[in-house]
Amino acid sequence: MRMFVASLATETNTFAPLPAGRAAFEDAFYAPPGAHPPTPTLCSAPMVAARARAATDGFTVIEGTCTWAEPAGLVARGAYESLRDEILAQLRAALPVDIVLFGLHGAMVADGYDDCEGDLLAHARALVGPDVVIGAEYDLHCHLTPKRVDAATLTVLFKEFPHTDFLARAEDLVDLAIRTWRGEVRPVTSLYDCRTLSGGFMTSREPGRSFVDRLMAMEGQDDILSISIGHGFSAGDVPEVGLKVLVITDDQPAKGAALAKQLADEVLSFDKATAPPHYTPADSILLARETAGQPLVFGDRWDNPGGGVPGDGTIMIETLLQHPDLPAAIGVLWDPVAVEFCRAAGPGAPLWLRIGGKATPVSGHPIDGHVTVLATTDDLLIPFEQSVVSLGPAAAVRLGNCDIVLGTKRAQTFSPEAFSKLGIDLQSKKIVVVKSSNHFFAAFSKIAASVHYLNTFGPFPFDPLAVTYTKVRRPIAPLDAVS
Ligand SMILES: [Zn+2]
Repeated sequence: MRMFVASLATETNTFAPLPAGRAAFEDAFYAPPGAHPPTPTLCSAPMVAARARAATDGFTVIEGTCTWAEPAGLVARGAYESLRDEILAQLRAALPVDIVLFGLHGAMVADGYDDCEGDLLAHARALVGPDVVIGAEYDLHCHLTPKRVDAATLTVLFKEFPHTDFLARAEDLVDLAIRTWRGEVRPVTSLYDCRTLSGGFMTSREPGRSFVDRLMAMEGQDDILSISIGHGFSAGDVPEVGLKVLVITDDQPAKGAALAKQLADEVLSFDKATAPPHYTPADSILLARETAGQPLVFGDRWDNPGGGVPGDGTIMIETLLQHPDLPAAIGVLWDPVAVEFCRAAGPGAPLWLRIGGKATPVSGHPIDGHVTVLATTDDLLIPFEQSVVSLGPAAAVRLGNCDIVLGTKRAQTFSPEAFSKLGIDLQSKKIVVVKSSNHFFAAFSKIAASVHYLNTFGPFPFDPLAVTYTKVRRPIAPLDAVS
C-alpha cells in the first residue's frame, strides 16, 4: 500500500492588515519531502502519524511538502498557487497511490480563492480518481465547505480547544483511511450547517468538556466512525464561514444526518453565559487586587497572533504601568525592531526603547520608556503539546515593575517557557498577560493561581456585528434572524 502525505496550512483573518506571501510559509515552517522533523507541528501531524503507522504496518509513505504560515491576512495568489502546484506535482509523481492524506488548517483564504482547501482537494481528486482514499485533518476553526468535504473520503477535525489533540486526531485519520482502503468500513459523511457565526466553545471548561468526552465515547459505536464540530472562523469573510457539524458513519447516511442535526441543536443550546467572563484592563486590575495567590494569568484573546492579528498591542502594558505596586509580566509581543535594538545593547544594558503599538490602529500607542534588557536569545523555542514553536530572536526587558518579552516571529504564547527561558520568574508576578486565545491554557494553568480572559478591544474582529461581511452567505446569525 502506498500513502502520500502533505500539509499546507494557515488561518486567514481577512480583516487583518498582514499580507502573507510565500516567505511567510518558508519562514514559519517549510519541510520539503524527507525534511519533516520527527515532532509534529499543529497541522502537519498526519505526516508524523503516517510515519509511525507505516513503521508498524509496513506500508510505504511518500512524503510531500509540509508547510505552515502563522495566521495573518490574505494569502497572496502566487504563494497559494505555487505551494498547491508543488504538492500536486509531488502527488502526480507518486502515482499510483492508494491513500492521500493532507494536514490542513481549513481557514486559508488567498487572493482569488475563498476555499483554498476545497480547491486543493478537488485538484487532488481529479488527479487520483474516484477510488483512492483522500483524507484531511483540519483545525476546528475551519470553513467546512461542501466542496472540500465532497472531494475527500474522510474529514477529521481537532476536537479540543485548546488544540491539545492534533496528533491524536491525525492518528484517527490514518487509522480510518487504512480501514477504508482495506474495505473494512465504507465512510459516508453527513454535514449540518448551523447557519451561525457564533457557537464556538472551549473544551477547557464546561459544557464543552463533557460534550467532547461524549463525542469521543460515541465514536466506534453503532456505525459512527467520526464526529467533528467545525467551530468556524468568523474572522474569515468567505461564503461558507460558520458553525457546522460533520458525522462520518459506516454507510448510514440517514443516521449520520440525524445525529449531526441533534448535535448541532445541542451546541446551539449552549448558553452564552457558559463562555468565560472577559475582563477589561481596568477590571483585571480590580480582580488581581481582590484575589489571593499569584500569578493570575490573563489571555489577551483579541490580540492573539494565532488569530491572524499582529500581537503587538500595548493596551495592557499601559494599564500595568499605572499600577506599579503589582509585579507583572507580559508577552510575547511581536516587535522585531525592538528586539534588534535589545540584542545590539545586550543583557543588562539600559536602553530607551519604543515598544509595540505599530501594526494596527487599535493596537494601542507605542510605549516609550527607559528599559533594562534582562536577557536575549537567538531563538525563543517553546513547546505546544508534541510540537516545538519558534518565536525567533527574542528579548526580555524590564520597564517599571513590568517584565516584557518581545519576539520577532509571530506566534501564540503557548508555554511559561516563553518567560522562564529569558530568566523571568512568573511565580514572583501578581499578573501575567499572554498573547493567546486559549492555547495557553493547558501549560499556564499548571503554574497559575487562576486563569482568566481579557478583552483589550484588540484588532481581532471578535464581534461579528461590528465588522462588515461582503461574502458570507445569508441569512446567518447573528447578522440575520435565523430560525
Ligand atoms: Zn484553531
